[in-house]
Amino acid sequence: MEFLRPKTVEEAVELLDHPHALPVAGGTAFPGKPNAERLVDLTSLELNYVEERPDGFHVGATTTIAELERSPVAEMAGGYIRQACEFLADTPLRNMITVGGNIACGHLWAHLPPVLMTLGARTIIAGKRKRELTVYEVVSAGLQRGELIQEVIIPKLGGRGVFKKFALTRTDYAAVSVAVYWDELGRRVAVGGLVRPQRLGDLEGQIDITPELLDRAVDELNPVPHPHFDPEYRKHVLKVLLQRAIAEVEH
Ligand SMILES: Cc1cc2nc3c(=O)[nH]c(=O)nc-3n(C[C@H](O)[C@H](O)[C@H](O)COP(=O)(O)OP(=O)(O)OC[C@H]3O[C@@H](n4cnc5c(N)ncnc54)[C@H](O)[C@@H]3O)c2cc1C
Repeated sequence: MEFLRPKTVEEAVELLDHPHALPVAGGTAFPGKPNAERLVDLTSLELNYVEERPDGFHVGATTTIAELERSPVAEMAGGYIRQACEFLADTPLRNMITVGGNIACGHLWAHLPPVLMTLGARTIIAGKRKRELTVYEVVSAGLQRGELIQEVIIPKLGGRGVFKKFALTRTDYAAVSVAVYWDELGRRVAVGGLVRPQRLGDLEGQIDITPELLDRAVDELNPVPHPHFDPEYRKHVLKVLLQRAIAEVEH
């Protein structure tokens, strides 16, 4: 297996144009990719930054979770992103796991995608052609061969957000996760852990969340099996976390 360390994004894109090439950033999710013949390390591309610009916070894809947690964007919206970072695996892993890797890995339990979905974050995708995708588009459809996440743009928002997770321990993989953002324009809700991270539109348009509405929104989900918790129990936990997060963020 080849392990290549390009110095520029253009060089990385060229090296990734190979049938069995994979980008690698923090390297924490690689045991599950046995077919890769060429690993293209993204950590020398100088994509470690969090910059505040007029259109939002620009976060380079190889910024680690530990770096993100210490940056000004973590404190926006009542420390919303900090909440998602602080129990994301343990301290050594937070020094390795990258923002781009957490979005691209496709893990149900990844903390950043639901939070970024509620904030309306966009990703800049480098490839033969540069394009912009929402975080949901990356998580649901994935990237094409030869593409990589270069940057994430997080709008500067003045509301409040609450992230909650349920897991065996505080730092274990999330079996259920909930991200709720609220400002004067309304409420945005996303879930993860038991299903692929996604918005729950049914809970966004209504001011009052009745038990019937909550049941309907959650019962439509089809949880992926979990080694410790059965699907009905996780759905019950999801309803409790949603109620708590919505109450906390709006009162
Ligand atoms: C024990 C343990 C516990 C964990 N707990 C949690 C948790 O509670 N919550 C949580 O959110 N995460 C958790 N994680 C991390 C998560 O499961 C992934 O391992 C991590 O998000 C992958 O990030 P990475 O930077 O290491 O990516 P890598 O392992 O380098 O890559 C992961 C995948 O993403 C692709 N990739 C990486 N960077 C890019 C990019 N810039 N553009 C395109 N594709 C890219 C790679 O090709 C690969 O397919 C945990 C990990 C471990 C090992």
